[in-house]
Amino acid sequence: MRIANINNRLVLGTGSGYVDVEAASGGAFGSDPQAVYAQWGEFSEWASGFDPAGAPTVDAGADAVWDSPVPQPGQVFAIGLNYSEHAKESGMDLPPSPTVFTKFPSSVTGHNQGVVHPGGSIDWEVELVVVIGKQADFVKEADAWDHIAGVTIGQDLSERELQLSGGVPQFSLGKSYRGFAPIGPELVTLDALPSPLDLEIGCRLETGEVLQQSRTSNLIFDIPFLVAHLSSVCSLRPGDVIFTGTPPGVGAARTPKRFLEVGEVLVSWVEGIGELRTPIVR
Ligand code: ZN
Repeated sequence: MRIANINNRLVLGTGSGYVDVEAASGGAFGSDPQAVYAQWGEFSEWASGFDPAGAPTVDAGADAVWDSPVPQPGQVFAIGLNYSEHAKESGMDLPPSPTVFTKFPSSVTGHNQGVVHPGGSIDWEVELVVVIGKQADFVKEADAWDHIAGVTIGQDLSERELQLSGGVPQFSLGKSYRGFAPIGPELVTLDALPSPLDLEIGCRLETGEVLQQSRTSNLIFDIPFLVAHLSSVCSLRPGDVIFTGTPPGVGAARTPKRFLEVGEVLVSWVEGIGELRTPIVR
């Protein structure tokens, strides 16, 4: 199953288009994309039995606004240094346990949404993003996928000067400017992916230059481990998200360093999910 947020309404992908969930379900499910995660079990059941034949489709053309399929997560967890080659390029040892920080939820935006350059040094970090579909407390790794609605693409945009300005590391603020958490365009369930733990992941400039390219199978701490670990401390609630870490190739680790400029467009992809487009604007 694939869902998206088009013009601030929850839509279901049918393979050939999108249908409006509130209309197609006769009001059983509302139009608010964030609200569906609290009803994920019932929604999945309805969607798997839904026959799209004859259902009116939503216009997903050039005028459609694609906000995040999870626009207002209660909590945004992010994992640092979760690909060994990225830890190496950052001059860090492999972490003995996950490095966890947050991106404040007000930084979330969607596909094709301009992100205002705030000044400083904006870096890219493409990441596989997990969305929670069932409350998770003290979950075992073997049960982790039962608590996940699906996965999508995210950019952990980072302003490196603010990120590294504190006397002790305080990553969260420099990663939380407005629009610094683009997520989307679609949330995809596990059964609709070729192999959830081994997907090609990368980002490039729209002009063609590839910036990052790896596979999600290179995660040091995999998704079940992260859900088990985080849920041993925090309650993970439906609609919370986890940015699972970025592969090597960030701009701050290059010689010379390379950052995003106004007018550049970042395109992030994950195999089987799609492409998330992020223009950097003034
Ligand atoms: Zn990151």
